[in-house]
Amino acid sequence: MDIFRILSRGASIKKSKQLTDYALPSDSQKKSELQKEEILKNQIDKETDFFKTKKRDIVKEVEAEEQEEEEEPILKISNEDEASKFRKMNKSKVTGDDIPLPIGSFEDLTTRFKFDKKLLDNLIQSEFVEPTAIQCESIPIMLNNRDLIACAPTGSGKTLAYLIPTLQKLISNPKKNHGIRGLIISPTNELASQIFQNLEILSKSKNLRIAILSKQLATKLSNKETDSKKYDIIVTTPLRLIDVLKKESIDLSKVENLVIDEADKLFDQGFLNQTDQILSTLTNKKLTKSMFSATIPSGVEEIANTIMFNPIRTIIGHKESANNQIEQKLIFTGNEEGKLLSIRQLIQEGEFKPPIIIFLQSIIRAKALFHELLYDKLNVDVIHSEKTPKQRDEVIKRFKNGDIWVLITTDVIARGIDFKGVNLVINYDVPQTAQSYVHRIGRTGRGGKSGKAITFFTKEDNKSIKPIINVMKQSGSKDGYADWMEDIDKLSKNEKKKIKHNEIKRKKISTVPSVVTKKRKQREEMIEASKKRKALENSS
Ligand code: ADP
Ligand code: MG
Repeated sequence: MDIFRILSRGASIKKSKQLTDYALPSDSQKKSELQKEEILKNQIDKETDFFKTKKRDIVKEVEAEEQEEEEEPILKISNEDEASKFRKMNKSKVTGDDIPLPIGSFEDLTTRFKFDKKLLDNLIQSEFVEPTAIQCESIPIMLNNRDLIACAPTGSGKTLAYLIPTLQKLISNPKKNHGIRGLIISPTNELASQIFQNLEILSKSKNLRIAILSKQLATKLSNKETDSKKYDIIVTTPLRLIDVLKKESIDLSKVENLVIDEADKLFDQGFLNQTDQILSTLTNKKLTKSMFSATIPSGVEEIANTIMFNPIRTIIGHKESANNQIEQKLIFTGNEEGKLLSIRQLIQEGEFKPPIIIFLQSIIRAKALFHELLYDKLNVDVIHSEKTPKQRDEVIKRFKNGDIWVLITTDVIARGIDFKGVNLVINYDVPQTAQSYVHRIGRTGRGGKSGKAITFFTKEDNKSIKPIINVMKQSGSKDGYADWMEDIDKLSKNEKKKIKHNEIKRKKISTVPSVVTKKRKQREEMIEASKKRKALENSS
């Protein structure tokens, strides 16, 4: 069956186009419905075009211009009553001592905080017109130099929620060649580089020295070819930072602002030691710390509280719940073979609409599915931690550009990466924790858009779907699973631990029957043996 053809019928992805290819109507021209339709037709191309945030969303622009006259007045929050109404509306819970009032708009910043004009311009020019709920709360908290624990759904703008105040704090109190004052830590290189690119856009025309701690920069610092004092803000992963710390080639004693993104990951067993080592080098008495994630389990929060000073805690929506823009569904496939059949069924039924990300539990399985779907002539690629950072960046770029329609992966890109137009996330293998589930499916439904997530499970997964059902229930996706699934017993702490740390053993992914694979192997061995024999004969 030629799946490619079926796909191209259902999907509207076209060859990537530049924004400038779409003729923007001149100001004097009245925008016609036809023009709007043309723009909408091309929307997917733009949605995958993340890093060009400077370029406006043309559709929004056309509509905004049409509605210009009836624009609402700027929202301003001037007392506790208004703040509490605003928080109720945003489903935000903010606890702690002396909580600052939230901002109601970016303009609100200028009246309350002497906000830098250029920074505000950069924001507005980057299509960021109104702050999201987490931004409304976190910006004043951080600008008031308070420690912060922030939990907000995937795709709700947490990056700007910490970048805006970090930049404003540095700009409003300039110190030349003082040393690193802002430190942002994220669990993966891909995410660090995304944060760095956001920083570059936001701080345009400001005289700040910002760097990502790349391998090259780490080497330069170690060889004393450059001095860490030259930088104002560094974005890094813990591993890379510890490497340079060990060689004493970076000075963190001047850091005033620490941001830990995907904090629960960095306070989890795998990273805890490294995070701890880094924290011990941050000796500045004026240091303020903030941590952000879409999932902050209680245990992690307890640890975080021990390193924070009188923090404010901000939760948008429910702690640990999925973004409610995502329609979630569980599909029982019976056995492993059933998963491939289900994918093919989704294609037949038109539900397999690219761009799509498919998550699997291991690199071997991701590679196997990649080969299987290649065979189906799907426009597919795979990304996992065995690929070099350069190869990984390349695949991400191609997926964002729309050159790849289906991206197969492991948990390596489950967190933080902002793919704008992903339509569907498929958990080919059930994620091992509720947190992993929330982050994986959070690659869709970002920046206010809707998305869909489908999780396959087999009879072996019986227990491990319980945490997922809980997330679905909490985020309003009750229609996505059958009633009997809700009756699965609650998991004990031990069971949860076991599931988290032990991958379920699964049958290999392949539609080729095992007899055929065996015969192929025998044939390859025979060819190999005959080659060796010939080589021996020739040499004697
Ligand atoms: P999170 O870290 O919460 O998962 P991101 O910070 O990656 O989410 O942001 C998700 C998307 O929302 C990004 O594409 C970002 O550009 C967009 N975004 C963030 N803040 C705003 C805003 N105030 N207005 C419009 N879009 C925004
Ligand atoms: Mg993020």
